[in-house]
Amino acid sequence: MKKITIISGKGGTGKTTITAGFAAIEKNLILADCDVDSPNLQILLNPEIKETKNYIELLKPTKTNKCTKCGKCREICNFNAINTEIEINQSKCEGCAACEYICPENAIKMKNKQIGTIYKSKTKYGPFIHAKLKPGEEASGKIVTQVQQWAQKTANKNNTILIDGSPGIGCPVIASIKSTDKTLIVTEPTVSGIHDLKRIIELTKHFQTKTQVCINKHDLNPKNTKKITEICKTQKTPVIGKIPYTQLTTKAMINKQPITEYTDTEITKKIKKTWKKLKN
Ligand code: SF4
Ligand code: SF4
Repeated sequence: MKKITIISGKGGTGKTTITAGFAAIEKNLILADCDVDSPNLQILLNPEIKETKNYIELLKPTKTNKCTKCGKCREICNFNAINTEIEINQSKCEGCAACEYICPENAIKMKNKQIGTIYKSKTKYGPFIHAKLKPGEEASGKIVTQVQQWAQKTANKNNTILIDGSPGIGCPVIASIKSTDKTLIVTEPTVSGIHDLKRIIELTKHFQTKTQVCINKHDLNPKNTKKITEICKTQKTPVIGKIPYTQLTTKAMINKQPITEYTDTEITKKIKKTWKKLKN
């Protein structure tokens, strides 16, 4: 079993378009969406949900009617999660339990909270593990790890697990890449793309994952594409794909299809070529 993770310095670089593009050209994949803050892969894969699991995380406080509104919990809360009416804003709460400790009436109890759901779905491109967080909840590395674990359990030794990872350099992306065999960074030829690329290469080096780069929309700014190629050369991180810009990607998205299924033009050829290099 092999694990390949696609990441990017930030959202909107075309990471999911390229992941779905790979999914439609390769058989024997187990697909996983670890971009749990903004899961878009499902739009292109049209999953049929077969199994669900509640994702429970974090102890969160609940208040009982023993509360006398003394305000001690509000004073101690460092995260402004308790208002003057002693209502607890769960999305601001960090689960530190200071309020439970300080309450003279034992009116606050820390309880487990379901903050999302993980799904195993059937798609025409292979089994697909994905997750949805409740509104206002932020992704942590733990939910990403659980998505990956389920994908691993689903896979057999001949499968490749293809992961649409999280953007950025926070906990979720670390959880996506820490146990992967290969990482593909999708970048774009913009000033911010170059800046993010440098940071994310450093991160992948830290985790010693074999890393390669794909420049999406490379033809929009040849000068920046050249800069990216030079940076990658210095960092000994090969550029294995240059994907051209085309409005067909938007049309494929509207049509809810992977780009490589929607069209057989230049972009599909380039994605196929990139996948061939990535999987070997
Ligand atoms: S500390 Fe306890 S009693 Fe006081 S306001 Fe908070 S919940 Fe109510
Ligand atoms: S658990 Fe901590 S962060 Fe949450 S409401 Fe209580 S004091 Fe504030």
